[in-house]
Amino acid sequence: MLPYLNLALKQAARSRCRYRVGAVLVKGGRILGHACNRYRNCAKIDFKHATFHAEEAVLRRRNTPHGAIIYVARLSRAGTPMLALPCPRCQDALAAHGVAEARYTTGTGIGTLRLS
Ligand SMILES: [Zn+2]
Repeated sequence: MLPYLNLALKQAARSRCRYRVGAVLVKGGRILGHACNRYRNCAKIDFKHATFHAEEAVLRRRNTPHGAIIYVARLSRAGTPMLALPCPRCQDALAAHGVAEARYTTGTGIGTLRLS
């Protein structure tokens, strides 16, 4: 599981958002997609939805097969892993796309969340 989280951390490092988050979607040992969070290019969107979360960005890129696992990592400014538990909006979206589980950095280790 760690190689995927390391990949998610690398994705997070590409983010230009204040909170840098990366996500990697995996099924059966195969990487299906990866993304970091990014700003939307529309100024009219209210501030709460001003970024695509990394999880959403991955889902937008890929048709998700049932039972996939998403790895989510967040980087602090200092470059250390921080809590990356998917927010309720992403949890709903991931479950709706059939993603089975999220594994995420916690700052002290790895967390697991069953989604569907
Ligand atoms: Zn989210």
